[in-house]
Amino acid sequence: MGVEEEDGRLCDARYIRALLARHGFHFSRARGQNFLTADWVPRAIVRHAGLDGTQDVFEVGPGLGALTRPLARAARRVVAAEVDTSLRPVLAETLTGLDNVDVLWADVLTLDLPALVAAHFPGRRPVVCANLPYAVTTPVLTRLLGSGLFEALTVMVQKEVAQRLCAAPGTPAYGAFSIYVGVHACPAIAFDVPPDAFLPRPRVTSSVVHMVCRKRPLRHEALFFRLVRAAFGQRRKTLLNALAPALPLPKDALSALIASCGLAPSARGETLGIPEFETLSAAAARAVSGPAAAEDANIPGGNTHKKN
Ligand code: SAM
Repeated sequence: MGVEEEDGRLCDARYIRALLARHGFHFSRARGQNFLTADWVPRAIVRHAGLDGTQDVFEVGPGLGALTRPLARAARRVVAAEVDTSLRPVLAETLTGLDNVDVLWADVLTLDLPALVAAHFPGRRPVVCANLPYAVTTPVLTRLLGSGLFEALTVMVQKEVAQRLCAAPGTPAYGAFSIYVGVHACPAIAFDVPPDAFLPRPRVTSSVVHMVCRKRPLRHEALFFRLVRAAFGQRRKTLLNALAPALPLPKDALSALIASCGLAPSARGETLGIPEFETLSAAAARAVSGPAAAEDANIPGGNTHKKN
């Protein structure tokens, strides 16, 4: 059997059922185990990730290896982190013969990412490719992007989440996470994947998102994200009312501060882009701490945005 045929077998629902029955494996919904059954999807992920044999890849959740195998053929080396150790004998079988793949039996949410990269990809910036477990998409992406370790991410997520990741200000899908992603990367939806491309079938459509990582330097990062959280936590409130609990300023001073940024105090946070939040956080830092020492550390409340 040729390698491509072998890869295709791992996306064949009948073959998967027999393989899993042989290993006594049962799907875990909690772990987001919807395995790919359409072999065009891993190929398209590899293509959109731009793999040409020179890149290092970190895969989250290899499952049965349906994406891992094509990744291994298109990359220099692949390290895949899988939390479900009952897949150990399955992957031992399906990844046989691939000498550039390492599987780490670990939870990506607690894995020491800098140590992983230093140990497996010294001096390199790997890319991430994954069909992500949907229940933990946001914390996983927050960690991966916030680590600053990766060149790009090509990940499958729920379509609604993909729309949020890529949303523009003023659109219904736009939110605090769109801003977090926008600060760390340049995201774009690559293609949609229907529910019948998985076993078991999820109820929702999925999308693959490609993100080129480039961190936008923020002068008052903690304060920036505090204002973003405040603005979106109270989405329906005006900027003035939404930001009031986040800043130790009298309302008239806050109103003047918002106006000094060229914004109407009656505006809503959901219409503001990253540059507007940067202007706001710079003005807020000056107003709270004085122009000379506008440091995040001086602002009560601290940064609670989880990055690692
Ligand atoms: N890559 C396979 C595919 O495309 O067919 C499986 C994708 S499946 C949607 C998600 C995989 O992530 C499962 O194998 C699941 O066990 C694994 N997983 C879930 N939570 C995880 C975590 N916190 N860390 C690492 N792997 C996880």
